[in-house]
Amino acid sequence: MRTGLAEVCLDKPRAAWMPVGEFLSTLLQTVAQQRCRFLHDKISRPVEGKYRCWTCHREFETDW
Ligand SMILES: [Zn+2]
Repeated sequence: MRTGLAEVCLDKPRAAWMPVGEFLSTLLQTVAQQRCRFLHDKISRPVEGKYRCWTCHREFETDW
């Protein structure tokens, strides 16, 4: 039986893609937040250093 070997081969690419997926999700999150600031003007007052967008209900920190 070579099932154990096949599992190892299948696990390798999946593990290699994990950081890329995390990086992409972080990047998309940042882009979405930037776009939110420009396109959505219904933003709440800052609470504890965080704004909340009433259009997409997204929370983002204030660094400006
Ligand atoms: Zn928004």
